[in-house]
Amino acid sequence: MTGLNPIMVKVKPSATLAINELSAKLILEGKEVFRLGFGQSPFPVPNKVVEALKKNAHQKDYLPVQGLKSLREEIGSFFRRRYGLLVGAEEVFIGPGSKELIYNFQVSCAFNELLLPTPSWVSYEPQAILTGHKIVWLPTKKENGWKLDAKALEEHCKKDPDQKRAIILNYPSNPLGNTYSDEELQALAEVLRKKQIIVIADEIYGEVHHEGQHQTMAKYYPEGTIISTGLSKWAGAGGWRFGVFVFPPQLKYLQNAMAIVASETFTSVSAPIQYAAVEAYKEDESLRLYLEHTRKILKAVALYVYGELTTIGISMPKPEGGFYLYPNFEKWRPYLISMGLTNSEDFCSHLLSETGVALLPGMAFGHLHDHFAARLSYVDFDGEKILQYVMENPGINIDKGFVENHCARIVLAIKRLITWTLSLEKIQ
Ligand code: PLP
Repeated sequence: MTGLNPIMVKVKPSATLAINELSAKLILEGKEVFRLGFGQSPFPVPNKVVEALKKNAHQKDYLPVQGLKSLREEIGSFFRRRYGLLVGAEEVFIGPGSKELIYNFQVSCAFNELLLPTPSWVSYEPQAILTGHKIVWLPTKKENGWKLDAKALEEHCKKDPDQKRAIILNYPSNPLGNTYSDEELQALAEVLRKKQIIVIADEIYGEVHHEGQHQTMAKYYPEGTIISTGLSKWAGAGGWRFGVFVFPPQLKYLQNAMAIVASETFTSVSAPIQYAAVEAYKEDESLRLYLEHTRKILKAVALYVYGELTTIGISMPKPEGGFYLYPNFEKWRPYLISMGLTNSEDFCSHLLSETGVALLPGMAFGHLHDHFAARLSYVDFDGEKILQYVMENPGINIDKGFVENHCARIVLAIKRLITWTLSLEKIQ
């Protein structure tokens, strides 16, 4: 019998898996579990996109490797309208989820170092290991909302100027919930250009910026930026498996290489999904309202959780987009250590067993092993029902009271988290 590829020894089962397993065990024991570790949109796929999928169920032909031409044209015009980018169908590449495209990029591209700001999304590192790349975790500071500072990037590059580098920048951020300002993007772009670093701008949460004010790195560093996006987060279509890369013409060679990998692996994205996706990129009043309402709801829930937790001294970056917060429990370090909890993984397992609240440990995102931070995803509510209610009650205040009335599980989970955290101080 054959064994495993030796590279598999280096990839460990994910922290998400461990938390999911413990959650499942607790549920079997009859305990209530609040899935604040889960990163899925709570909202339904916009109706007109679902209708388009139904109409296109009969589409059965293999489509071009890089994607359906009419879809790529529609996506091109979306990026021209939204960000003023010079993008046409030729620059757009469709894949079965942006995760697969980021993996394909790592298969296709030669570089000596993959730079990741600490913390970054859970899958970049394992993908780099699987594709044989060296990872460098770049340091960040709490005072700066754990965002990458242009100076820190430059400092790192100065150490060995001859290295070829790629970087993945994700904003709005999973796990941080914050994003880069225009000035910060510009400062980073300057260094990235000077050092000739290829950027994967993971903007999968761009349309879920709570104020609809997302800006792309491609505006400031067009020649070296590949935008990574899709329908999973803003359109609630994670399970449809649909992702998009937008290339600059200067990186055409890479796009062509990725097309070879795609043609030898997934071939093309499911035809009905691609025909339906055309509708998702045709902006109209129904989509405008969908985005306006879903952003408002997410913002209200985020501010509710942020307000409650910061009141008792749990610090975290202020939410600006996406579904996440990154609470920090360092204030309770001495108590946690005295309980034998030495890292964020132990911390999250203990918290889950004691309270039923599932968070994901900061360690899973590359954060310091002894750093008590965790990702809290605030989507444990019935998005379909709440969205419907907001649609039927135009002008309703979506504020703290709204959250208390409509998101009972979030409210209860946060109460439990607060009670437990405060109880730590009573431990001798
Ligand atoms: N990037 C980030 C930061 C994510 O959080 C996710 C999904 O959780 C992805 C990429 C992958 O999304 P998909 O493959 O569904 O497009």
